Amino acid sequence: MRYKKFLKSLSLKDATTYYNHSLASQTSFKIGGKAKYFVVVKNQKTLENILSKCKKFFILGGGTNTLLSFKYYNGTIIKLSGNFKRIYVGKNKLTAMAGASLFSVCKIARDNSLCGLEFLYGIPGTVGGAIFGNAGAFEEEVLGHVSRVKVFRNGKIFWTKNFSYSHRDSSFKRDGGVILGAQFSLLHGNKNQIDEKMKLFLERRKQTQPYGAFCAGSVFKRLKVDGQTIFPAKIIDNLGLKGVKIGGAKVSEKHAGFIVNFENASAKDVLRLIKKIKKIVYKTNNLKLEEEIIIFGGKKLAFNRRFSHPHTLQPRKGNNFRKCDFGKEKGP
Ligand SMILES: Cc1cc2nc3c(=O)[nH]c(=O)nc-3n(C[C@H](O)[C@H](O)[C@H](O)COP(=O)(O)OP(=O)(O)OC[C@H]3O[C@@H](n4cnc5c(N)ncnc54)[C@H](O)[C@@H]3O)c2cc1C
Repeated sequence: MRYKKFLKSLSLKDATTYYNHSLASQTSFKIGGKAKYFVVVKNQKTLENILSKCKKFFILGGGTNTLLSFKYYNGTIIKLSGNFKRIYVGKNKLTAMAGASLFSVCKIARDNSLCGLEFLYGIPGTVGGAIFGNAGAFEEEVLGHVSRVKVFRNGKIFWTKNFSYSHRDSSFKRDGGVILGAQFSLLHGNKNQIDEKMKLFLERRKQTQPYGAFCAGSVFKRLKVDGQTIFPAKIIDNLGLKGVKIGGAKVSEKHAGFIVNFENASAKDVLRLIKKIKKIVYKTNNLKLEEEIIIFGGKKLAFNRRFSHPHTLQPRKGNNFRKCDFGKEKGP
């Protein structure tokens, strides 16, 4: 069966497919071209089927850390929904599927008096995206609280404890595959205190970030130079670059590490602004800034050492995606 015909044959309870679909609304930047196929997948079996048939794909979580810079993507953009939003609570642990939002994870942890994840409250996006980029805030990182991750890689589904991470980086960025869920190790705490802490973190975020604006979080990663941590936002601010615009994109006046789409910005506007900031910072401070946001698609620009995104890889010869065994789907 041809791929398009196969997608059309899927039942709505398994997946919803959109053709030549604009993806701007799927990202917090509100920027994005069209994809030949945009599939919202609701269970593992269907994901297995789709991955065994599609030639190239990209997993989009909440789209809150991604700049989709293509005009047209001739492949499949996959979003995990349905069963992938499930969250299970156990004794001192919480297991969340990759499509669950960080908001829900934090609230469910609080409701069950489980503490440790309060710092995540207010970071938009999904568990999958957070694990991939090792999201963090207030000197804590998500992977510091994860005991194992469920992955679909090389045609196999497995739970792994074998991962490494550093500031806004994880081995999942290089190892490829699809993150299906994660188990968090948590402690028992006082529900009211957990709630207080969450509210405090959210409030701090609202005070310091352009919360609610069309953006994708901090554009650049922190740097370590001679053992010292360098905050790009501080440097950009000191250089007086707050408010600098290119097209509809500008450096946020509230937080110099953020670029906001204030007026119908294109991906090109954002990329040109990134290029400008990097150039100035290099000239004045001799520092090479590196993007924290994921830039996917479009033409490769000379300034941008974009990594080859693992999802875009074609299945290996013999199509090893076919061999996967998803096992039972009742629980994690
Ligand atoms: C206002 C605002 C504030 C923010 N504050 C913070 C902050 O304090 N700290 C922080 O770390 N981040 C912050 N961010 C950035 C962002 O919210 C986080 O990085 C978040 O974890 C991204 O999740 P996502 O699901 O939206 O990822 P997406 O943007 O959808 O995807 C990011 C990457 O992860 C990959 N990915 C997503 N799901 C999967 C999966 N299931 N399997 C494999 N790969 C996957 C995608 O392919 C992509 O490469 C902020 C963003 C905004 C808009």
